Amino acid sequence: MFPHIKRRKTRTIFVGNVSIGGDSPIRVQSMTNTDTRNVKATIKQIQKLYKVGCEIIRVAIPDEKAIISLKEIVKESPIPVIGDLHFLTSLGEKAVNTGISGIRINPGTFKNRKNLERLVKICKERGTCIRIGINAGSLEKEILKKYQKPTPEAMVESALNWIEYIVEKYDYQNLKVSLKSSNWWDTVRAYELFSEKSDFPLHLGVTEAGGIIPGTIKNTMAISYLLLKGIGDTLRVSLTADPVEEVYVAYEILKNLGLRSLHPDVIACPMCGRCEIDLMRLYKKVEKWAKKVKANLKLAVMGCVVNGPGEAKHVDLGITGGKGVGIIFRKGKIIKKVPENELLSAFFKEIKKFLKEHPERYIN
Ligand code: SF4
Repeated sequence: MFPHIKRRKTRTIFVGNVSIGGDSPIRVQSMTNTDTRNVKATIKQIQKLYKVGCEIIRVAIPDEKAIISLKEIVKESPIPVIGDLHFLTSLGEKAVNTGISGIRINPGTFKNRKNLERLVKICKERGTCIRIGINAGSLEKEILKKYQKPTPEAMVESALNWIEYIVEKYDYQNLKVSLKSSNWWDTVRAYELFSEKSDFPLHLGVTEAGGIIPGTIKNTMAISYLLLKGIGDTLRVSLTADPVEEVYVAYEILKNLGLRSLHPDVIACPMCGRCEIDLMRLYKKVEKWAKKVKANLKLAVMGCVVNGPGEAKHVDLGITGGKGVGIIFRKGKIIKKVPENELLSAFFKEIKKFLKEHPERYIN
């Protein structure tokens, strides 16, 4: 059913206790959009993200005040925290000292190499992972001069230079790399080129992708293309939306490629003139329920009894309606008829029964 994906061999690194690369699963990350200085709001958002499967969280470090909050956030967060740093200053060292598990740096914005040296030394002492986050919009002047514009080749050269500098000078290897551009094809080419030249794990993502619909499309095109080629060890689906949506989209991509699954897959028919129920309402309720459950399960919400059970016979359980009756089917066979207003509760009961019979379907 799924394409055969042979993952590129990368070295294993760690962000706190979460392994990335090697044989580790492809990790799902997100970034908070709260004000880091607001500890309560930031922790609340991290908890929400953790519940839906986010494994690593990144928070912005805009100033000194954020460093004070960061200490609290690190203490309270259920998942490893990465600090996001631009325009490297002494803030970097202070951030690492809060106990963060990783730091994302954008070398193109560095003005002072002394600060970088101090930062790498302290990351090495504390085992803090460094992400070299190359961004097409902020490449070093010398590289831009050589390539005329921020091409994928320019991004890769920048990344390799920084890796060489950090690895050779400090013998520090707990590194991962991202090569982002708002042009998804440039992003793809940069990752492809890089993966031919280095085995450091790759953090996938398309920057400035936009809102839920355009952003999901751009991210899915780039990330899926790369994952199909076996490239990518961790990812963030950047969206101008609630970061919880980023995590949902990330798992949808992984699930549809057969790489990882977390929540039940809910399929629904597109509806036609034969639809006999309020399918949209039912679908929304089932989908909402499914997002709270961690299990490998296929569910269906179909519009009519004539074709529904047959069209969705590959799923574990499904529902449809038919002239005032609610119908539940299992592997394509009708197992129950209930009054339409009892359909959802009867369906959830059947799912629980199914999971009791198949406890191996739960995902921890
Ligand atoms: Fe139409 Fe029924 Fe198929 Fe839905 S299941 S698309 S309502 S025929």
